Amino acid sequence: MARPRTTLTVQRTERLTPHLIRVYLGGPGFAAFRPSEFTDSYVKFIFPRDGIDVLRTYTVRSVDADAGELTVDFVYHGDEGIAGPWAASVQPGATIDCFGPGGAYAPRADADWHLLAGDEAALPAIATALEGMRADAVGQAFVEVAGPEDELKLDKPTGIELTWLHRGEREPGAVLAEAVQAAPWRDGQVQVFIHGEASAVMQNLRRYIRRDRGISAEWAASISGYWRRGRTEEGFREWKAEFKARETAETP
Ligand SMILES: Cc1cc2nc3c(=O)[nH]c(=O)nc-3n(C[C@H](O)[C@H](O)[C@H](O)COP(=O)(O)OP(=O)(O)OC[C@H]3O[C@@H](n4cnc5c(N)ncnc54)[C@H](O)[C@@H]3O)c2cc1C
Repeated sequence: MARPRTTLTVQRTERLTPHLIRVYLGGPGFAAFRPSEFTDSYVKFIFPRDGIDVLRTYTVRSVDADAGELTVDFVYHGDEGIAGPWAASVQPGATIDCFGPGGAYAPRADADWHLLAGDEAALPAIATALEGMRADAVGQAFVEVAGPEDELKLDKPTGIELTWLHRGEREPGAVLAEAVQAAPWRDGQVQVFIHGEASAVMQNLRRYIRRDRGISAEWAASISGYWRRGRTEEGFREWKAEFKARETAETP
């Protein structure tokens, strides 16, 4: 990813749902921020901890050039971690640096239909993708959240069927994986965007889409974990590297 570094100032925060906090970022540094054309545009926030820069990856939910502001929606997943607790307690006037943005996915106009799926961490990217689609786009979107109070109103084409799934006491990603695999498959060329808890996405859904449904990498490039249960982002990066190495070794 490109590495321009921007210093942003917290303007305000807003609790969207019990588990989602929107942080509005702007200030003098915003002028140097170059938005990307991708709907999964993301930045890496830099949190200095004990003399080390700790990086945390977040989707750019929206950019308002006129207001000089961008928004990022942080999952509040408890008191563990760095970025989630930061979003829950940060006050206007605080500054934060980030690298980016990077990104790779945008809805294609030549897809016959779209399949999007994810959990709260992927909800900002899914919401941005739905807003970025043509009005006549069709397909299905599945979003797994903790419970009914975590649902959000999303702007989407009428032809995209949106299904909210409630995790309840199940492990993250289990309900999502079941729902996507049980959904009727449509005819025509699909474009896929699936992100969330890494094990559920990589061990279940990626296999289902690529192997069982035979979707090529060109149309299913954006399937990956956004976080890993029981691991910090550093631990998740190690898990990803190990997963990739195992996969490469198993490929004939
Ligand atoms: C391209 C990309 C875009 C992303 N966009 C977003 C986004 O817009 N909003 C967002 O909230 N996240 C997003 N994520 C996920 C985010 O980077 C991770 O959730 C990150 O680990 C959070 O950092 P933390 O400091 O809060 O927790 P960490 O210090 O990394 O982890 C502490 C503990 O919290 C657990 N944990 C981490 N994330 C979650 C979660 N979502 N739900 C439940 N438990 C969790 C970990 O397993 C660990 O046990 C994105 C990730 C990627 C790769």
